[in-house]
Amino acid sequence: MSNQVSLTFHGAAGTVTGSRYLLDFNSRRVLVDCGLFQGYKNLRERNWRPFPVEPSSIEAVFLTHAHLDHSGYLPCLVKNGFKGTIYCTEATRDLCKILLMDAAKLQEEEAFYRNRHHYSKHDPALPLYTREDAKKALELFEVVHFSSPDDLDPGVSLGELSVSFYPNGHILGSAFLDVLVAGRHILFSGDMGRSNDLIMRAPELPVYCDYLVIESTYGDRLHDNQDIWDKVAEIINETVATGGSVLIPSFAVGRAQALLYLITELKHRKMIPYLPIYLDSPMAISVTEVMQRDHRYHRLNKARCQQMSRDVTFTRTVEESMSLNSLHMPAIILSASGMATGGRVLHHLSRMLGDHRNTVLFAGYQAPGTRGARLVAGEKNIKIFGSYYNVKARIETMDFLSAHADHLELLHWLQNMPTAPKRCFVTHGEEAASDQFRITINEELNWSACVPIMGDKVIL
Ligand SMILES: [Zn+2]
Repeated sequence: MSNQVSLTFHGAAGTVTGSRYLLDFNSRRVLVDCGLFQGYKNLRERNWRPFPVEPSSIEAVFLTHAHLDHSGYLPCLVKNGFKGTIYCTEATRDLCKILLMDAAKLQEEEAFYRNRHHYSKHDPALPLYTREDAKKALELFEVVHFSSPDDLDPGVSLGELSVSFYPNGHILGSAFLDVLVAGRHILFSGDMGRSNDLIMRAPELPVYCDYLVIESTYGDRLHDNQDIWDKVAEIINETVATGGSVLIPSFAVGRAQALLYLITELKHRKMIPYLPIYLDSPMAISVTEVMQRDHRYHRLNKARCQQMSRDVTFTRTVEESMSLNSLHMPAIILSASGMATGGRVLHHLSRMLGDHRNTVLFAGYQAPGTRGARLVAGEKNIKIFGSYYNVKARIETMDFLSAHADHLELLHWLQNMPTAPKRCFVTHGEEAASDQFRITINEELNWSACVPIMGDKVIL
């Protein structure tokens, strides 16, 4: 059949991770996002299954942003035969260099560790992909400029397919995509940012589309509107008063930079006492450098970025990181990963969880099944590197620092849509969140909306 376009949901359907949307048209095939599944083991195991279509049959991938649940499967796709081009913005490319290499390194290390300690079901344990695989994927990247509503020049033109990238305020380089394919406009929201983020500029208004794929991470919730400055100062001050330290497991991309800005501002406003601030994540340090290089898409000017570097100690090497173990005075330590699924934060957790004076402050969404979600739920025994640790430290969460638009922010963004789309697909949310947002779209906007399930294919 000619001129038919189909869209298949190969991830982020009924869950927040593994974003992979496949478009088929006139014997051509492209992918929007190529993410890893994260969280519950049964989801993570999906990363090991063969990709649903032959990777060599896909001609291009368009990335909304660099977070691993949107980009982290690319090295596997390339390893399994993809030879096309991966299009994204400059900052997304820069961040993917950092994130994909780090993901590969963590997987290599975990496989090595499992083999050494013989606690793998698989013998030998293998990494999902290696740094060599990640490098090969990075060679296929091509940078695309952002479009603006006054300049409708698309970033990518490939015959009857063109794709425009618009800033959506989620993280550095993040975009919503207007994919024009065989005469239909399909808008992919990516992960939507917020109108008043600490660091990122507000999302661009939506453009016309026939079909909409909208995320719904916070589709059924509102962010806490309490004063973020007072709340964080209060947590830090209460912890420091007992002689404890504050550990902030933080996503290396975006949240770490927002937190650094917030905490160093609190220090300058004298809302918290003087105390050392450490950024203990080589990846977050590299991302902070990307932010400090390019000021076009965030709110912090050069002087403020330089100030941040003076206020914070960046611990890049393992030795510098280990020296934090012998700190004898209260401190603030930011470390990745944000959901405590890996990275240096695990060493800090194993050292700090047992002391009631310390606070562990989670700074964003904790996917079900992760260590972060279990700590937030109040579990008192947490397994790290095969050993159990008693949780005595105070556990706090700060949803209001989320990089995702909440229920109302998503709705307000959609209200700016020039006309009603023919159909909306609500993705990238837990079932309850996606379904609630589907109902909101139906009732508040009177648009047709559905929640696709994994593997669903629709003809557009
Ligand atoms: Zn994201």
